[in-house]
Amino acid sequence: MYSAGTLLVTESRVGRPLNGYKDFVAAGFRPLSPMTRQRRTTLKIQNLRDLWIGELKGLYHAETQILKALPKMAKAAEDKELRGAFKEHLEQTRGHVKRLAQIFKLIGVPAKGKQCKGMEGIIAEGKAMLEMDLPEPVGDAALIAAAQRVEHYEIAAYGTVRTYAEVLGEADAAKLLEATLKEEKATDETLTGIAEQVNADAVERNGKAQIAATPGQNSNGKVKKKRQPARAAR
Ligand code: FE
Repeated sequence: MYSAGTLLVTESRVGRPLNGYKDFVAAGFRPLSPMTRQRRTTLKIQNLRDLWIGELKGLYHAETQILKALPKMAKAAEDKELRGAFKEHLEQTRGHVKRLAQIFKLIGVPAKGKQCKGMEGIIAEGKAMLEMDLPEPVGDAALIAAAQRVEHYEIAAYGTVRTYAEVLGEADAAKLLEATLKEEKATDETLTGIAEQVNADAVERNGKAQIAATPGQNSNGKVKKKRQPARAAR
């Protein structure tokens, strides 16, 4: 019931090769409860279908997190087009969740998410960026950067589950996943288009002004040399 890593850690804690169950307890480890043992066995991936279902559950969790994040992103966006894109994608995301639920129904699996640490990390990064209260339109540029990370993660994940569905002979599920994949890709392209203008505006409005406003720097961002006082005429 213990992994090789756990054994190594235990040995290093005890300071000598292990000598049975007593050493595990001495090192602070306790055997897994029957419930945890049963849960771990249930979650065990034994074939591609299990892996596919696990990925679908991860996506279900990821999409529900995105549903919570998108309204905040729309509210924070200054650019009208960007705000509109976030609102539109919020509607699409509701559809993505419904499609996943539909797939779970098709395959007779309860529609339940599995913690998606990848998406949690990406959203946490975006949230930290929002909290920095960046000047506009740099703030919008940062929102786009965060949103595109989300989209790229989803594109990779949906591409994978669509392909697994195809090879597993789940044609209806594959069609639904392909439809979502197309929307994620289209959103990414829309964001790239909006970014062109927002990034250019950010350079125009913030770039030069901010560098010039930084004490001790010239407009190239280089530190100004202190002007030498003129020598007094002799
Ligand atoms: Fe999505």
